[in-house]
Amino acid sequence: MKNLFISLVCLFAIMGYMNAFSQNHDNTKAISVATNLEDMYNWNLYPTYQTYLDFMNYYADTYPNICKLDTIGYTTQNRLLLALKISSNPNIDQNKPKFFYSSSIHGNELTGTMVLMQFIDTLITSTADDIIQLRNSIQMYICPMANPDGTYIAGDNSVSSAVRYNANYLDLNRNFPDPKAGAHPDGESYQVETLAFMEYALRERFHISSNLHTGSEVYNYPFDCYRSSQKEHADKSWFEYMGNEFVGAFSSTTPSNYFTDVSSNGIIDGGDWYTVFGGRQDWHTYFAHCREITLELSMDYTPSNAKIKRYWEYLHNSMFVMPKYCLIGFEGVVKDTLTDEVLDNVMIKINNHDRDSSEVFSNSNGYFFRPILSGNYSVTFSKDGYYSKTINVNTSNDMTTLQDVKLLSMTQSIEKNPKKDVKIYPMPVNSVMVVEVGEDMNYSIFDMQGQMIMNGRIHSRANVLDVSKLDNGNYFFKIYNAKEQYNKKILVIK
Ligand SMILES: [Zn+2]
Repeated sequence: MKNLFISLVCLFAIMGYMNAFSQNHDNTKAISVATNLEDMYNWNLYPTYQTYLDFMNYYADTYPNICKLDTIGYTTQNRLLLALKISSNPNIDQNKPKFFYSSSIHGNELTGTMVLMQFIDTLITSTADDIIQLRNSIQMYICPMANPDGTYIAGDNSVSSAVRYNANYLDLNRNFPDPKAGAHPDGESYQVETLAFMEYALRERFHISSNLHTGSEVYNYPFDCYRSSQKEHADKSWFEYMGNEFVGAFSSTTPSNYFTDVSSNGIIDGGDWYTVFGGRQDWHTYFAHCREITLELSMDYTPSNAKIKRYWEYLHNSMFVMPKYCLIGFEGVVKDTLTDEVLDNVMIKINNHDRDSSEVFSNSNGYFFRPILSGNYSVTFSKDGYYSKTINVNTSNDMTTLQDVKLLSMTQSIEKNPKKDVKIYPMPVNSVMVVEVGEDMNYSIFDMQGQMIMNGRIHSRANVLDVSKLDNGNYFFKIYNAKEQYNKKILVIK
């Protein structure tokens, strides 16, 4: 035991020496950092941690009408995970699509950090009409540093020793629940960073997202955990269409071999490159019902200072391509037919298309957005306790189709406010029915799908309504004014 102890002491001494050597070695080719905001705007220096915080705070403080700073959470070493929300009314959860960019979940892959910082600056300060319009039309969330513990492993003022891993030396992009491998695919507990990003995504419910990496140059779309021969995402053609536009928008100065190391067109179905379990892309896509693209932006993990600027030069148009796909598809608000309350968690499924969790859901505002290319789709809206409704939706690639929907509750629609003295007869009804309500009110008749068939005014005296055009079956009869309503099921038999 004693010998072992001495051996271990020697081993640690040697490791300490080697570590010091490698530090020195790294320092000889150290990467320069911006220690203040002014230097940052040369765009050829990586930020220190404090400069990064100053940068994020600067935009939120200076442009509060279009920008707000979110704290996603804290890292293992208690650094901040931040995102800027950029939109026309950032303090309100608006009924607009949400796009989420984040970078550097691998702490040494820093091209995307710099690209996203320049993207933030352009998105906020540009006076170009199309950028202002984008800012007003969608809600953009941007996190330039998803793993600052890995980036600043050598301390807050250096990125020269940045590592892929978090402070527990775990790969955060293998730490998410996986569609194929299940919970804990890496055999580790969920890291605080992973939990923070999952909570943020589930709270905000992004529609499209992208996670930026380096080490290759490719647009990589779901799934990562399946080869395409095993399972293809329902929106594979949408991912490829958007990818082609992304790659096609590189600036004219971009070398012709950029984005060619993995596939000739720069686009790949993730699992066909190599399979990954526990990646954030598949979690976002499968479990959060978002659509996430993994972008590999440069062969260099952490490009030298001299090389940093070139990637924004290549990508400054392309970075706007994916967010603009938040404006192609259909959107709307789902409400309760009878009460007009907005409905959360309504599943919106495109028939003969959606599979493997590609459906989208309405949020707590009742709002939904389904990105999809032009077409004529049969879409079913469903929610527990409500009658499902199927409608046809036409979409184009130039705009978002508006499609508000109302669903009929199975329980509320049976009888509401039964104490009200309302007489409806005869029941069943064949051609006309009499309604006695004692005051002037409005009425609506809905079929079982929640579709309104008839409506009008009921007066204080007895009313005779002609329902002879209704087919045989059950309907919901709603009488209402500004203060109250009364619902009753009616049966038409002819
Ligand atoms: Zn990576």
